[in-house]
Amino acid sequence: MNILFMGPPGAGKGTQAERIVDQFAVPHISTGDAFRLAMKQGTPMGLKAKEYVDQGLLVPDEITNGIVRDRLLQDDCSKGFLLDGFPRTLQQAEALDGMLADMGRSLDHVINLKVDRGLLLARLTGRRICKSCGSTYHVLNNPPKQEGICDKCGGELYQRSDDNEEKVGTRLDEYISKTAPLLSYYEGKSLLREVDGEQDIDVVTAEIVSVLRGSN
Ligand code: ADP
Ligand code: ADP
Ligand code: ZN
Repeated sequence: MNILFMGPPGAGKGTQAERIVDQFAVPHISTGDAFRLAMKQGTPMGLKAKEYVDQGLLVPDEITNGIVRDRLLQDDCSKGFLLDGFPRTLQQAEALDGMLADMGRSLDHVINLKVDRGLLLARLTGRRICKSCGSTYHVLNNPPKQEGICDKCGGELYQRSDDNEEKVGTRLDEYISKTAPLLSYYEGKSLLREVDGEQDIDVVTAEIVSVLRGSN
């Protein structure tokens, strides 16, 4: 199953992806995670991406598309994938269509997690992530059992450097100007399904599962 998650920063894409990949046994491909890893490792691509990520701006399409192309060609994607945070521009969406066509494949589901802008700042500034396994928490909405420690692996939780009020403002502006127009692109292909991302995390998961199983 070839799945794409859309939604503004903080909509819950990563949180839901962690749960869906467990149930559907497809790899989770997050371009944001790929950039953070490359930045941490200090690779040439990571250094280039950092100039944009640190400002809350989108990384240029040619860098981003290359990462996804390489990832989709890996063996574990042969049974499907869940793309989270890609595509974010029309050019990326068209590039993705081309990559999939070359592979003789296509998207099965595009799920848009809808969350009102007013909720996103609190979600993003309260977000905490495990240094070891990447699991996502929220200090109020989804706290770990022990403060600062990952429930799953005991790793230390940290706050992303772009999850502050100033960068969130820029990221939301980037979303509105460059990414939101993609919704009509996928609507035009009759692939888009909306899920109310303001509901409890478990309720959102259940709705996504029923869309993916084709039972609603
Ligand atoms: P969020 O979970 O808040 O939506 P991500 O972790 O997906 O954020 O992305 C973090 C940053 O990585 C973005 O602000 C952007 O700089 C960069 N990035 C991630 N995905 C893309 C993409 N598809 N195109 C361009 N830049 C991207
Ligand atoms: P995205 O990947 O779309 O940027 P995340 O999955 O990282 O979003 O979620 C952003 C923050 O909001 C995290 O701290 C997460 O724990 C929290 N969160 C996710 N889904 C919900 C929800 N349905 N209700 C309340 N908080 C949520
Ligand atoms: Zn962990």
